[in-house]
Amino acid sequence: MKEDFFKYQTQTTSHPLALEISHAEGSFIVDTDGNKHLDFIAGVSACSLGHRHPRIIKAIKKQLDKYLHVMVYGEFIQQPAVELTKLLANQLPFPLETTYLVNSGAEAIDASLKLARRVTERSEILYAHNAYHGNTFGALSVMGFEDRKKPFAPLVPDCLPIRFNNIDDLDKITQKTAAVILETIQGGAGFIFPENGYLQKVRERCNETGTLLILDEVQPGFGRTGKLFGFEHFDVVPDILVMGKGMGGGLPIGAFTASQEHMALLKDNPKLGHITTFGGNPVIASAALATLQEITESNIIVKTHQKELLFRKLLKHPLIKEIRGKGLMLALIMDSAEIASEVILRCKRKNLILFWLLFEPRAVRITPPLTISEEEIKQGCDIITGVLNEI
Ligand code: PMP
Repeated sequence: MKEDFFKYQTQTTSHPLALEISHAEGSFIVDTDGNKHLDFIAGVSACSLGHRHPRIIKAIKKQLDKYLHVMVYGEFIQQPAVELTKLLANQLPFPLETTYLVNSGAEAIDASLKLARRVTERSEILYAHNAYHGNTFGALSVMGFEDRKKPFAPLVPDCLPIRFNNIDDLDKITQKTAAVILETIQGGAGFIFPENGYLQKVRERCNETGTLLILDEVQPGFGRTGKLFGFEHFDVVPDILVMGKGMGGGLPIGAFTASQEHMALLKDNPKLGHITTFGGNPVIASAALATLQEITESNIIVKTHQKELLFRKLLKHPLIKEIRGKGLMLALIMDSAEIASEVILRCKRKNLILFWLLFEPRAVRITPPLTISEEEIKQGCDIITGVLNEI
């Protein structure tokens, strides 16, 4: 298949990992030569419960026997989407009550920016340096990596950068600002945490100026950091919460949640303020519902903390300068980009899947399935330390 992959499928880099997949189960992916790879990446945090979790597969199969797509989003009442949005509301603090289900993280970001403009009747959007929110024109407009945006300019106007964790820049939030959009924990930037009450201060300034706070939880959401959502660590509640990736348990989804009052604006003046054919798709919503039920009914979230400690204990090595992140959203920071790449590529040859971060070349990403066992963690960490000893 390799030749056809390079010939017929659009490439995103000139050096893809190009593992040829046969099947996947739990924490392992098996290639077409029969090699079993331990997965420390989980589809870049998308396979929150590992590969083919039995509860998700059962829910998908059950839905397959009833109906697939029947109507564009919003017109028909379909049980999986209704139950999913209701369970989400039960898990979220007030006023996060109403959820719009869409197809990807980036679409949810675009729609949340539209909602902020609609609510505030202002246009200015502030985003953080080194932020990543996706790749549609809207999401790209709030990406904090100017060099990668330039070739696609002009982007959405009135989007301006601020420095993450910088209190002085909060003065840039004014009565002209519709929204401040931030990743609760910055992903592509290198798993950067808000420090010294930063998010609370952003929240306060937004309250003062009538600005909406949009928190992007596409990466930290759904249990990855040891709470259902990352913002629960920081005692803030956003006006709009954006989700994706791990929400679908391996199927494509995005969503944003806000108050009843704000969301109601998408149906009037103009009506159809955001529409999308496949949002709330019944098969995908069934998978997401099973994922959320499993995360909230089991002890997965509690165990995430213990698993983080195990990683931190096992990954002590002079070449690892720092382990950033929380829960099972971890990044090893190496001395140089070369060492980080060497670790990722050598581990791949030893059947351990690791990956890079978008904007921090010294980082080695570790975001395994939340269901990973302690034994599997030990197995993978042995491979990493073995490789580090060779370098
Ligand atoms: N926000 C964040 C923080 C992300 O990490 C991503 C995906 N890496 C997105 C948004 C975009 O999600 P998607 O790729 O599903 O459009």
